[in-house]
Amino acid sequence: MNILSTDDSTIESALRFACTSCGKCCNGLRLLLSLSEAVDWLAHGGRVELLCDAAPDLPFPEGSGEAYRAARAVPATSQALPVTIALLPTAVFDGPCPNLQADMRCGAYERRPNACRIYPAEIRPDRRIMPAEKLCPPEAWGGDRPAFSDPLRGIADPVTAFAITGARTAGIEDVARKARLLKRLGIDQVALANEGYAVWKPDPALLLEALRAVMEDVAPNDIQPVDVEIISLRAETRQMIAEAEGADAMPDPTRGYDYLPLYA
Ligand code: SF4
Ligand code: SF4
Repeated sequence: MNILSTDDSTIESALRFACTSCGKCCNGLRLLLSLSEAVDWLAHGGRVELLCDAAPDLPFPEGSGEAYRAARAVPATSQALPVTIALLPTAVFDGPCPNLQADMRCGAYERRPNACRIYPAEIRPDRRIMPAEKLCPPEAWGGDRPAFSDPLRGIADPVTAFAITGARTAGIEDVARKARLLKRLGIDQVALANEGYAVWKPDPALLLEALRAVMEDVAPNDIQPVDVEIISLRAETRQMIAEAEGADAMPDPTRGYDYLPLYA
């Protein structure tokens, strides 16, 4: 569902869309996964990496992107600083998706992740669908296409709407399991939200085992305490974290993650 606002810049005009099966959105991606989708992806031989970041634990305005993130993040600490940790499993492939067939159809259509069902719509309620930013060709958005979304009803396409609801719900239901996963995998260094990601790359077999274990845990709402260091390449950022009584650190390439900055 898209967020309506009195600010005209956030009101989305009605969109018409139908996928042309061009396959462009199935190449060189990081596909956001729920934990159960990550289990499935790994079990079928795929590669999964974990994007991790931390943000201060603050009461963000309802409907904001920060509030959406916080509701799906693990409550934690960085020394004396209360934070929330986003742990985002992503399916990773450099070229064509391993499920993409020669005719550009999905070879895993029935079990494709929600992110595939949702594109080119947006999972987050604070984001508008911007056709110009999507990989879909212009003919996918023609006036003769079925209604896709409008400002009053939100997403009109039932498959897409169902997948968005599923992805948002899974994000909340996964929080306690993600806290356990952080512990199990020893993930104790994460990037600062909006500055970068720590991209943890556990061995696939170990990650699959850990995921299965946390999915089977009997107390899914029992959030175990997690404490992290917040990494940054910027001296000013590390100083800011230290002044907020958090634990700061330089990215450490020997720890099993890459640092992915979000700035040039
Ligand atoms: S799983 Fe299917 S829809 Fe998703 S990226 Fe791969 S080929 Fe495309
Ligand atoms: S880029 Fe758009 S039109 Fe092309 S396969 Fe993906 S969703 Fe369909």
